[in-house]
Amino acid sequence: MQQNYQDAMAMVRKFGKPDLFLTFTCNPSWSEILNSMEGVQRPEDRPDIIRGLPHAHILLTLDSESKIRTKDDIDKFVSAELPDPCTDLRLFQIVTKCMVHGPCGTININSPCMRDGQCCKSFPKQFKDDTEENVNGYPIYRRRATEPVQVGKYSIDNRWVVPYNPWLLKKFNAHINVEVCASVKSVKYLYKYAYKGHDAASVKIQKEGALDHDEILSFVEVRLAVHLPQQQPIVYQDGQEAQAIERAALRKTTLTSWFELNKNDPSAHNISYSDIPQYYMFDKSTTNWKKRQRGGQNVIGRLPVVSILGTERYYLRMLLLRKSGAISFDDILTVNGLRCITFQQACQEYGLLREQTGPHYALADIEELLTSYNLSLQKLHLPTVDLPASVLERANFDVVEEQAKANSYTMQLNSEQRNVVEILLSAVYNNAADTPKCYFLDGPAGTGKTFVHSVVAPKCEIFNCVYEEVFCD
Ligand SMILES: [Zn+2]
Repeated sequence: MQQNYQDAMAMVRKFGKPDLFLTFTCNPSWSEILNSMEGVQRPEDRPDIIRGLPHAHILLTLDSESKIRTKDDIDKFVSAELPDPCTDLRLFQIVTKCMVHGPCGTININSPCMRDGQCCKSFPKQFKDDTEENVNGYPIYRRRATEPVQVGKYSIDNRWVVPYNPWLLKKFNAHINVEVCASVKSVKYLYKYAYKGHDAASVKIQKEGALDHDEILSFVEVRLAVHLPQQQPIVYQDGQEAQAIERAALRKTTLTSWFELNKNDPSAHNISYSDIPQYYMFDKSTTNWKKRQRGGQNVIGRLPVVSILGTERYYLRMLLLRKSGAISFDDILTVNGLRCITFQQACQEYGLLREQTGPHYALADIEELLTSYNLSLQKLHLPTVDLPASVLERANFDVVEEQAKANSYTMQLNSEQRNVVEILLSAVYNNAADTPKCYFLDGPAGTGKTFVHSVVAPKCEIFNCVYEEVFCD
């Protein structure tokens, strides 16, 4: 998942943040599905046609002409209100059938969205006369107080409407939640959500009018080496270590070759290391960067994930993202004519670690990530900041509280879920080398994969082991 996230961030760097986040769920009442039923069959009897309820999370990045900028733009594309049945009866029918949340809360305490007496999606929302563009990264949509309408046995008003786009709803007749991503702050969470597990995903990048393009050729990534001086990785066969080292000494890595390029080609000086594959191609046989004649605009250079525990390499990576035209490691270490001893110090000199220059959110994100490894900014001798309350609230994760919750969830597991939990926990408790440590949990939507995760994760915390949810949706 870390790697997926890094890939996503490489795409954000190149194409900008996504503007729209869509969740599209199959409608079991589509005529194509109903027409395939035989006799008294219902869609749920035919998992060969609909496995669970297939759904897609889609992130859309709009070109600069089409960006959603004002609250009028938001209102034009996204509605969170019941339509007027007199002016658009079909839309009204689809919204009341597919886009009404729950209901939950006091009206229906047993709704699956209820956690500890609260709706986990924060429904019912507040009435609101006007859309507000950006509140903590997301807009608050207009939901005017109007007369409620009867939907099934419940009386529903605009507070229960999931945001949607009228055109898409009428086109596809399904649950299609459309959310506007107001700021870059929401991006990380969206990507995390969209990437947290899926059966399949495809990415299509398209210019208006350019329909006949090759999807695979249009998105090529180049993996770039990030290593400390004389510490490039070497692959060798047993007994041939010395020869491998000799060979490696003659070969340049993408990084050392980039230094060479900067020494010899002034036109490369304004290009950062991660952007270099767009303009130059790495020739593996000569280990040289060669100028591209064409086709580089769709190439994305990607730096590997570096753990903050590999301290110096971590800071080298940070510098490589910012410094263009470097001709050597020494050059990277030199800031305003002064040669720093460490890459960390160089970051410090550039002001990359100072509170005033780094946004609070970035540090909060780093702190949050570290917490899950039982580390903190302070423990790693990194600058700490007084974070605004809103940020702290977001990263709030109380281990003790989560464990208490997990214990109470344990009582609610059904026998199949309990079986899965037992297998996973025995893998955590059992240190024998032959105990499998990687599991794939599969099951249709709604069978409780996330619920299982919420029981297992806090229990792993006690053992300070890294448990990563790779397939939960
Ligand atoms: Zn709810």
